[in-house]
Amino acid sequence: MRWGPDEPLKLEEITVNPPKASEVRIKLLYASVCHTDLLGLQRKPVVLGHEGVGVVESLGSDLTGFKIGDVVVPIYIGECGSCNNCKTGKMNMCMVYPFALTGLLLDGTSRMSARGKPLFNFFSCSTWSEYNFVDASYLVRVDSAMEHPHVSFLTCWFSTGYGALGRKPILSRDPLWPSSAWALSVLGFKYSLSNHYNRVDVNEAKRGLGEAFGMTRFLNPNKSDKSVPELIQEMTGGMGVDYCFECTGVIALVSQAVDSTKPGGGMAVVVGAGTDNDLHVNFITLLMGRTMKGTIFGGIKPRSDLPVLFDKCERKEIQLDQIESHEISLEELPNVEEILKQADCVKISFKF
Ligand SMILES: [Zn+2]
Ligand SMILES: [Zn+2]
Repeated sequence: MRWGPDEPLKLEEITVNPPKASEVRIKLLYASVCHTDLLGLQRKPVVLGHEGVGVVESLGSDLTGFKIGDVVVPIYIGECGSCNNCKTGKMNMCMVYPFALTGLLLDGTSRMSARGKPLFNFFSCSTWSEYNFVDASYLVRVDSAMEHPHVSFLTCWFSTGYGALGRKPILSRDPLWPSSAWALSVLGFKYSLSNHYNRVDVNEAKRGLGEAFGMTRFLNPNKSDKSVPELIQEMTGGMGVDYCFECTGVIALVSQAVDSTKPGGGMAVVVGAGTDNDLHVNFITLLMGRTMKGTIFGGIKPRSDLPVLFDKCERKEIQLDQIESHEISLEELPNVEEILKQADCVKISFKF
């Protein structure tokens, strides 16, 4: 957990109270690390983590859809199925159970405390804890024999890339350019229908992983004096690309992503979370018919879409074995920021 904005990560003994009527207390089995955990977005003190899988340890009296021992995943958005957005079937921005940054449950309170102080949760998940609690509206049951670390990867990282990237290329045979430091875009590509997938990254160590997953071209902008949009235009006959996915959340890269797309229909998609709210995009660039949009969880609907992904993984249609690079112990967790910076680090997970 983290006590304050400039405080280091710390292991603490915390108290997790029994769940209220619509809530579930979960015993975590496995959790993983997503760079969003370390951006400092949530109120403090906070129990971090938003990727993980566990079993229902106890549950509130009003709940009928879950039972003790069920394998479950907490997700940071809900899916009521009946609000105006859910009814469209085209988006995951549920209006009844929205993405919440309050760090509290729906009744405005917390179930966790340490040293006598209430703790905030992270994106209604707080998976870096041996026990956590969640409103059942933000919970999905895992009826699959998938390996637990792989289930954890589906609770943000892989699914975000799969959802964001996996759908768009169906419309296009032209090149895609995820400007990303993440492997998620690589994975999303492999299971999409696109013919071309190109990757922009300053980390050469990611070239091999990209090639293993069918990457067409790799561009390291540190090896040229030209900007990324200039390099991309050069490589596409001056046109730019149909889709460019920005996965790092670095504001300067978002405008580069927009500038790298085709006039008259190119789209830049913001996938990664960042800390800077002030985005500057070239006005003329947008006026030329480009589109910029963002996505949370890659547009994946937790209750409708995740079971389909669980199935694909169980049948090895999607293979997640190749992507786990670091399994660490709970004691190593406070050093996770350093581990994440290592050139060969693709994905970190840990077992409880
Ligand atoms: Zn809804
Ligand atoms: Zn994430």
